[in-house]
Amino acid sequence: MCAGLAEKVYGNLKESRNGVFLGIGTGIGTAVFIDGKLMEEVRSAGHMIIEKNGRKCNCKKNGCYEAYASMKALKDSIRKEFNVESLRSEEILELLKDKENLNRVDRILKEYIEYLAIGISNMARLCSADTVVIGGSFVHYKDLLFERLQKELDRIMSDFEKEQTRIIKIAKFSNDAGIIGATLI
Ligand SMILES: [Zn+2]
Repeated sequence: MCAGLAEKVYGNLKESRNGVFLGIGTGIGTAVFIDGKLMEEVRSAGHMIIEKNGRKCNCKKNGCYEAYASMKALKDSIRKEFNVESLRSEEILELLKDKENLNRVDRILKEYIEYLAIGISNMARLCSADTVVIGGSFVHYKDLLFERLQKELDRIMSDFEKEQTRIIKIAKFSNDAGIIGATLI
């Protein structure tokens, strides 16, 4: 939420009236702004159910958004594919510079992006968002994921939704936005 506030005051939500910030990291943090004001009670898009009888989430429910679309979910799937539990985030990125490895995880990336896009389009729709900003550790993977995400959103969103939500951007402040936001409170 701090990161969302930083985007609102200084970053890519600055010009937005209705905006959604999604911090995609270990979980999925949320900040929603309606008429420019932070909706303090709306903060857990990560626990929307997006899959019936889906994966178990930390919150004990099944099929939560963050069990599929958090960076943790993505990295866990990649670690499993390569059978190396200890792979760190930077090591995964390094590994995926290799074309063969990248092809090997193509199905995982595709599925990840499908789930991520569903949650983003749902939140955008629900909040009549003109702008969606994505932050968290997702930012480090933007070269790998962001273009795929934009294509998938273009595929699944209706013309009306695309007209309404014209701007979908990566956070301006990358992963430090939480610190900037905290100083604003
Ligand atoms: Zn949950």
